[in-house]
Amino acid sequence: MTQAPTIDNAAVDHLAQSFSGRILRDGDTSYDDARSIFNAMIDRRPALIARCATTQDVVAAVNFARERDLLVSVKGGGHAPTGHAVCDGGLMIDLSLMKKVTVDPQARMATAEGGVTWGEFDAATQEHGLAVTGGRVPSTGIGGLTLGSGSGWLERKLGYTVDNMLGAEIVLASGDIVHASESENPDLFWGLRGGGGNYGIVTKFEYRLHEIGPTVFGGMLVFPRFRAGEVIRAYRDFMEKADDDIGGGVVLVCAPPEDFVPEPMHGMPVVAIIVCYTGKPEDGPAAIQPFLDLQPVMNMTQPMPYLEVQKLIEAGNQPGNQQYWKAEMLPELPDEAVEALVNSAAEPPSTMTAIIVQPLGGAVHRVPDDASAMGWRGAKWAVHILGQWPDPRENDEQIAWVRNVDASLQPWVQSGTYLNYLMDEGEQRVKESFGAHYKRMEELKNRYDPANFFRLNQNIKPTV
Ligand SMILES: Cc1cc2nc3c(=O)[nH]c(=O)nc-3n(C[C@H](O)[C@H](O)[C@H](O)COP(=O)(O)OP(=O)(O)OC[C@H]3O[C@@H](n4cnc5c(N)ncnc54)[C@H](O)[C@@H]3O)c2cc1C
Repeated sequence: MTQAPTIDNAAVDHLAQSFSGRILRDGDTSYDDARSIFNAMIDRRPALIARCATTQDVVAAVNFARERDLLVSVKGGGHAPTGHAVCDGGLMIDLSLMKKVTVDPQARMATAEGGVTWGEFDAATQEHGLAVTGGRVPSTGIGGLTLGSGSGWLERKLGYTVDNMLGAEIVLASGDIVHASESENPDLFWGLRGGGGNYGIVTKFEYRLHEIGPTVFGGMLVFPRFRAGEVIRAYRDFMEKADDDIGGGVVLVCAPPEDFVPEPMHGMPVVAIIVCYTGKPEDGPAAIQPFLDLQPVMNMTQPMPYLEVQKLIEAGNQPGNQQYWKAEMLPELPDEAVEALVNSAAEPPSTMTAIIVQPLGGAVHRVPDDASAMGWRGAKWAVHILGQWPDPRENDEQIAWVRNVDASLQPWVQSGTYLNYLMDEGEQRVKESFGAHYKRMEELKNRYDPANFFRLNQNIKPTV
């Protein structure tokens, strides 16, 4: 193991003097808060944390690290289960103070700084009845989610988040600030839309917004787990031809101990259809009639604020738990794959674990494959197995269960998967997930970050 370079205290004090945010060392108030991330399995101690408040702070932190050859991690919302946001012994560049969101309702555009979360972003844009495809849990950062492409309940209508990205301000490894869009540095702009954090630190994101809500028709329909196969197959048959206004997914979860759930069902494995319908709310029930015909035991769909739809799975996704994920993209979802999934997932060892079967299609498929770095647009289905449990002593058992469910799907999956749901599965899997775009992305990496300064991410290794 190479020795981490020692950091000169005088240099740190000098950095702190001109810094608008805060420089934190081990033992400082807020140090532990800043280094903690969503996945409680990750416990790393950076030598320094640069809590940036401005783009100039980010430049200063990047220059400081580069001049001293420090390992760098970048924290947006801290949601990546890999723990890429935090490093041991290096400099963590924490964007969580950079919270500004500006909405231009006439132009239907928003600009948001790198530390904004989806809950904050949605709240600002929904004041104007506008939205873009965003994360399904409000505490997820816009940074990592957007750079990995951005999947959300609105994707069948609006495409991935990156399909609505108009530009970005980015700090490169050189410390230079550049703007990327279709007209400025278009190559970099292409790579940012799906390339993860490989090319630099995005300090500002610019998005195209769309009229959504503020009231949509949404909620959940719940069925007993023994009906999982039938419900998933019916969901598949309907969604493969459904209108783009119908978003959502079908999930294998355990019923939460909430007041709205009858007590005998608490903790019981169920199957639920999540609905986010963006047509006229009054048309919602007719639009999802085939789901209602399945006669759910609980129907919680109703007109509701889009902001509430964005919180539908929040209660089951809280920080402080161990996380282990697997995710796959499937060109098709045949009956045999449904059966394999339902059987292997029958007895989850944690009531917090969830499996989301997401319909793609719609706008996701209409964007040309080479429009952005996002690989693999053709898959019709994504399956996301989110292992979650509170007790680290169960890690081996829980991880084995997630892997077993994933293994059961292998005959039907494509080689690469969705970048934002990848754990640390190795270089080959990262390459496969970028698919045919990998070579072009490698060339961009060689140009913009030849020393691999930004390497705590789903990494593209430079070849120069
Ligand atoms: C509960 C939960 C729900 C989720 N739901 C969804 C979902 O609905 N759709 C979806 O697509 N994904 C979802 N994800 C996955 C999520 O998109 C990724 O984990 C994403 O990386 C999170 O972004 P972040 O900024 O919070 O992460 P971080 O952990 O802070 O960062 C993740 C990676 O992105 C880099 N990064 C972050 N911000 C920047 C920036 N501004 N500039 C450069 N690099 C940056 C980091 O260095 C790191 O490599 C979810 C994750 C969780 C835990």
